[in-house]
Amino acid sequence: MNELKKGIAILGATGSIGTQALSVIQDALHLFSVKLLSGHNNADLLIQQTNQFKPIYVIVTEQNAFKKVFQAISDPKIKVLYGEENLLQVLEDNEIEVVLNALVGFAGLNPLIHSIKHKKQNLLANKESLVIAGEFIIPFAKENKSTIIPIDSEHSAIFQCLLGEDNNAIEKIILTASGGPFLDYNQEQLKYIQAENALKHPIWKMGKKVSVDSASLMNKGLEVIEARWLFDLKPSQIDVIIHPQSIIHSLVQFTDGSLKAQLSPADMRLPIQYALYYPERKNNSLSQFSLIDNPELTFRQADRKKFRNLALAFIAMEKGGNMPAILNAANEVAVQSFLNGNWPFYRIPELVEEMMNIQNFISKADLEIYYETTKKCFADSEAYIRKNT
Ligand code: NDP
Ligand code: MG
Repeated sequence: MNELKKGIAILGATGSIGTQALSVIQDALHLFSVKLLSGHNNADLLIQQTNQFKPIYVIVTEQNAFKKVFQAISDPKIKVLYGEENLLQVLEDNEIEVVLNALVGFAGLNPLIHSIKHKKQNLLANKESLVIAGEFIIPFAKENKSTIIPIDSEHSAIFQCLLGEDNNAIEKIILTASGGPFLDYNQEQLKYIQAENALKHPIWKMGKKVSVDSASLMNKGLEVIEARWLFDLKPSQIDVIIHPQSIIHSLVQFTDGSLKAQLSPADMRLPIQYALYYPERKNNSLSQFSLIDNPELTFRQADRKKFRNLALAFIAMEKGGNMPAILNAANEVAVQSFLNGNWPFYRIPELVEEMMNIQNFISKADLEIYYETTKKCFADSEAYIRKNT
């Protein structure tokens, strides 16, 4: 019986996507066996998840949390290990077939590359890895016959719209954006935003970084670049539209003018479930969308002037090379500093643009360059913040 189960690793198990993934898997324990869980700071939750799912490996990447988890888990069949190096090593275990990557930021990149190298099936929520290194990752995955199924709701929508279309040419894709909590703020109001305002998303309940990114529209910018690599598109084939109700998760327009869209209530458990069971669809107890109860689906142009991050992401995508890695690294530092109270929300695009201007642009980049660029841009962004506050 056991051999019929797919061994799965959940990277970032303690986060928003990680916990929702485990709740979906909880109803599918006849099909999946959790072999690995990883967490960073949240030792208590990781201990609880470990006791519930009994994986072979538990990886903790923060030292104090590691000590706490290590002491709390006494089951000799469970190995509790510290750090990324151990994470990469145990990912190689043949019992792990599927890797769900719900890490946040640059931390997701190494595990994704390692998982591809070892021919795992990847269910990918971590968008930053594709933003930094998508140009390398997608051909690398093809070479290794390692699949990548997106979890990000927009990309899951596009993935679903493209099924059955084989080689039919795409005119363009349209990524929908809720617009976040500050959609109708003016420039002046944007100056007074505190972390707690940015963390209150009107539709989605998410981790802190992606919540701030959604509020600044950088999330949509990152998703534009993510889509470019996942679906092999030219920059001119990607558009963004504001759709505050977040029911249409994205659309594909074909060359005959036909538009296909995927609609559902805003609940990440659906794209997670879709990725887990792909190509099958499974019944579930999630709420179903009613067109009659929600007759108003509205759309408007995204304001790239007010939300400059979105314009910067399009510029970075068009430039290519290591520019998206610069955009991403500067944004990671800006968001963290904003959350720590050291950088105002409205100056996030200023820092990103400054780094795009001063960092060394390399049009033909490789993996090593993406890493170097990211590390240098982290350091320079931190220095810029120290100097300009
Ligand atoms: P969270 O912040 O909620 O979770 C992140 C996870 O990564 C946690 O398990 C956290 O551990 C762990 N982590 C944090 N820092 C590190 C690090 N330096 N090294 C290793 N592990 C680390 O994020 P989300 O779940 O919201 O998002 C995860 C990814 O999915 C992001 O790329 C996001 O953009 C994407 N995504 C998220 C959506 C959502 O609805 N949340 C929707 C679509 C995409 P701990 O909590 O223990 O500290
Ligand atoms: Mg998304």
